[in-house]
Amino acid sequence: MPLDDILARIRTAESAANRAAGSVTLIAVSKLQPLDRVMAVLKAGHRVFGENYVQEAQGKWPAFRERFGPLSVHMIGPLQTNKAKLAMDLFDAIHTVDRPSLAEKLARLAQDRGRAPEMFVQVNTGAEPQKAGILPGDADAFIARCRDLDLPIAGLMCIPPEGEDSTPHFRALAEMTARNGLSGLSMGMSGDFEAAIAAGATHVRVGSAIFGARAYG
Ligand SMILES: *Cc1c(COP(=O)(O)O)cnc(C)c1O
Repeated sequence: MPLDDILARIRTAESAANRAAGSVTLIAVSKLQPLDRVMAVLKAGHRVFGENYVQEAQGKWPAFRERFGPLSVHMIGPLQTNKAKLAMDLFDAIHTVDRPSLAEKLARLAQDRGRAPEMFVQVNTGAEPQKAGILPGDADAFIARCRDLDLPIAGLMCIPPEGEDSTPHFRALAEMTARNGLSGLSMGMSGDFEAAIAAGATHVRVGSAIFGARAYG
């Protein structure tokens, strides 16, 4: 199945970059995919998934967790502040901490619960006006602000501009991550995950290359 091909390509990319086998986590992005395709990947033994919509995730993953046991489900889509509480219950990681109001809300919820999912700050490396994320020039201050709030940040995440070479964006994000003493690097999708691994990705988010085209609408 395509999952095995992607896993093999990840191993090859790790080895080409002189990185340990297994140092990259494959997040299988299951948003807007028919349940039978997701089930096939679960049955093949994969346990790490990504979703973009809180409601869609809520309708899918509690039942899958009951049936398949422990799973790791990552939120990779924009998160509305009024869904932050639900997201804290549903997800094992949130890759889209992208503004102060959301960081403050998540920090308050984390304080109340005494635990939190793994958090990534989304950086808008291409400074695209339509795209979510902290601007590169504001990233260091934002990460410091998250630390002040006691919000544990594992790393940074980016979605490079479409139609551009991703590598300079991946390198810039890796540099920002190192500069801030972080280690998590969520970057790389179906079309560019090998380049992301070469630049140091610890988490790649691959959807259509595993599951096929998504049903939009
Ligand atoms: C949908 C999505 C992906 C997966 O994209 P593919 O091109 O299907 O691999 C990865 N990251 C984010 C943030 C997404 O929204």
